[in-house]
Amino acid sequence: MTEKIKNFINGKWVDAISKKTFTSCNPADQRDVIAHVADSNVRDVNVAVASARKAFPSWSSLPAPKRGEILYRAAEILVKRKEVLGKMVTREMGKILKEGLGDVQEAIDMTYYMAGEGRRLCGETVPSELPNKDAKSVRVPVGVFGLITPWNFPIAIPSWKIIPALIAGNTIVFKPAEETPVCATRFVEVLEEAGLPHGVLNLVHGFGETVGDPIVRHLDVDAIAFTGSNEVGSQIATTCASLQKHFMMETGGKNPIIIMDDADLDLACEGALWGGFGTSGQRCTAASRLIVHQKIYDRFVKKFKERAARLVLGTDLGPIVSPAQYDKVLDYIAIGEKEGARLILGGTTPARENGNKRGKYAYGTFIEPTIFVDVTPTMRIAREEIFGPVVSILKVSNLKEAIKIANDVSFGLSAAIYSKDVNNTAVFERDMDAGIIYINASTIGAEIQLPFGGTKKTGLGPRDAGGRGGALDHYTKWKVIYRDFSGHLQKAQID
Ligand code: NAD
Repeated sequence: MTEKIKNFINGKWVDAISKKTFTSCNPADQRDVIAHVADSNVRDVNVAVASARKAFPSWSSLPAPKRGEILYRAAEILVKRKEVLGKMVTREMGKILKEGLGDVQEAIDMTYYMAGEGRRLCGETVPSELPNKDAKSVRVPVGVFGLITPWNFPIAIPSWKIIPALIAGNTIVFKPAEETPVCATRFVEVLEEAGLPHGVLNLVHGFGETVGDPIVRHLDVDAIAFTGSNEVGSQIATTCASLQKHFMMETGGKNPIIIMDDADLDLACEGALWGGFGTSGQRCTAASRLIVHQKIYDRFVKKFKERAARLVLGTDLGPIVSPAQYDKVLDYIAIGEKEGARLILGGTTPARENGNKRGKYAYGTFIEPTIFVDVTPTMRIAREEIFGPVVSILKVSNLKEAIKIANDVSFGLSAAIYSKDVNNTAVFERDMDAGIIYINASTIGAEIQLPFGGTKKTGLGPRDAGGRGGALDHYTKWKVIYRDFSGHLQKAQID
């Protein structure tokens, strides 16, 4: 059944002022129209920002442990609703159910974790240089936040931003990806049910130019947090810089797995499969480059190809999120072939094989697991983020060369090495320039209690997740307080 998805402004579910809508479809079967969604514009944004501003004084002055109690209630509701939400992630975004449930679990973990931070929003008390003087720092809320999120983790990523912003005492205007508005709405419903006061969290659906950009430019929005593509991130960063607005972004990745000659090849193969083809490669941490030692190259490639060929579409790999993204991935496969890389698996779509309109995949945006060998470091498929089930394999003769190639891209999100030699892994830990490093594990699978984000063009500003030293550094600002009681002491003549 097609439902109607509205904006949530000042505690009420409302249509876009223009009454316009757009549709959200199931990528596994485009005929399944999940929802008609409020297609908002700057007018809706203005109302949402005014609502967030009005709610700020009372929300920010509510003691943080009390804010935490609301978040604990939200976490409990999420636990009860995990299955329903996970199924919606699968239906709307396309990832397989096991991963859809994982998406919700991340939000559960984040919500419990940050609820506890309500009792730990610590600053510092330090000795002063002078007698009869106190010196301390406290964390205070920033104000109204604009939060803009992508589609690939349609519940987890909104939770990474909304939950820390709330515990810190900020109010929010939230714009989710236009591909996954229903998932975002379900998450906001949970917070409403948990008792969040009116106006604290406002949800405005719509597109980047008509909703995202007005949020970024709005003079009453104090700060922005963004996850998405580098192109959009860079535009937003430019606008925020010109308005001197606080900003953080987490963007693309081109994550490598180095497989050394002493690696456990079965383990490495499983890690490469999960990293390369999990979520059909639509993860910012996807392992899209395998950098393999020449001594085990042939053995590894044979094993990896055999295992990847056994992955089943619809069971192990979901569809690509949208027709536009599907075309982009197919374009990259064509680019790889043109550049001279050798396609040894996939590269095609079951719908096309079946003459376009037959078979169970015919109405979905499915792409077979795809492997390129003979890839060189300068090829575009080895340097640019594809965001699909496409893995490039490069051959190297030693660790130094492997790390050089691994580092020689503009991104630095996650990176992995498979080796039994502690010296290899120590050098990798030291020399690999990435935000998240894995030893004998794949490039994906971060935990919310540690900062999540990347170096180079992957990240700008404080990280998502983690607590103090992570997300809370973006969602709070420091206030330093000195109290000098010498003058009063003299007057009071205490001795
Ligand atoms: P996208 O940049 O196209 O869209 C992200 C969000 O920005 C959407 O809500 C979109 O509507 C909005 N937007 C678009 N144009 C805008 C504008 N001009 N002003 C304001 N907002 C605008 O990205 P996507 O396709 O949704 O997501 C995929 C990208 O996200 C990939 O590059 C992936 O690597 C990245 N990603 C990064 C991380 C990370 O933590 N590093 C995590 C997940 C996804």
